[in-house]
Amino acid sequence: MADTGFIPKEKWGAFIEGLSTKAQVYVPCLEGDTVLFRPFGKEKTLCFERPANSPPKSVIFPQSDTLFSFTFIKDPDNPQKTEVELKEHLDFPKTIVIGSRPCDAKGFTVYDRPYTETDTPDPYYKGRREKTTIVTMTCNSPSAGCFCTAVGGSPADKEGSDALITEVEKGYFIEALTEKGKEILQGPGVEDGKAYQGDATKKQEAVHSMVKNPFGPKGLGKVSPELFDNDEFWDNAVSKCVSCGACTYLCPTCYCFNITDEQTSDKGERIRTWDGCMYVHFTLEASGHNPRPTKFQRFKNRVGHKFSFYPEKYNGVIACCGCGRCIRYCPMSVDISEIVSNLQGA
Ligand code: SF4
Ligand code: SF4
Repeated sequence: MADTGFIPKEKWGAFIEGLSTKAQVYVPCLEGDTVLFRPFGKEKTLCFERPANSPPKSVIFPQSDTLFSFTFIKDPDNPQKTEVELKEHLDFPKTIVIGSRPCDAKGFTVYDRPYTETDTPDPYYKGRREKTTIVTMTCNSPSAGCFCTAVGGSPADKEGSDALITEVEKGYFIEALTEKGKEILQGPGVEDGKAYQGDATKKQEAVHSMVKNPFGPKGLGKVSPELFDNDEFWDNAVSKCVSCGACTYLCPTCYCFNITDEQTSDKGERIRTWDGCMYVHFTLEASGHNPRPTKFQRFKNRVGHKFSFYPEKYNGVIACCGCGRCIRYCPMSVDISEIVSNLQGA
């Protein structure tokens, strides 16, 4: 089976529509001024021109996910005895995400280590991840705040994707990277891609050199332990932050959650919802004690997780893919790349 293909521009819509007859397809859609991943439908306005405002992480890790339903059943012969009947929600459809960006796909690999590569994998994340094909589109130009190349990525990075699509003059060059990606090449209208490989490579290299490096010519260095442990540094760095939490929800690598039981009479559901370490209640303990009561401590944890704790645990892998969303969409213009740059000291 060929590993590359090409879709002429005039057949792009039919290609996506064809895939949607075989799987649930998510595509970036324009809603007002915002681009969001939505299930494909003919009535949607697709938008591949710029990265979506939020990454497609919700396709595999939904904002709100019913883990299981439960029903309490009283024993009619023994009213003191109640049994609980559980119904798992582990049936996931075959899904294709088209138009994620390389930073988004890399974000899934940051999830994979704690959620699947452990002795106790998360069945909900793992189940959806296995059923989902990630078809990534390389970037035509960097967006404001992007710094993927400074954290080991690139606008054409392959990590975490099943197939990579690069827009060239007359259409889209596709490179399959996994067996799931090869299935995409069987989609309608896909032609032989060999003739377009050179154009795609040139385009990818040109965009790579356009990405800014906020860490200077030496690149990302080691975090200074003195600055990292200096409360005044963090207090100053984060003084503008209003703890809205937008940065955590828009981040392709933030994976904190909360679990609640919602019950009416004898039935209920256990629901997992996104949470964020920027919220004051995130670490509030039942006793009333809060180990991270101040804004700067919460922000320090967020930066520390991405640039210190996660790399320490996972062989130096940085848990920030440089997508720049937390910079672009922070209402107070807090810039994580500037803070990390300052953290490196002299
Ligand atoms: S988006 Fe900006 S203001 Fe909101 S919590 Fe994050 S850093 Fe603070
Ligand atoms: S921390 Fe900011 S730049 Fe890094 S991956 Fe998250 S949203 Fe993107």
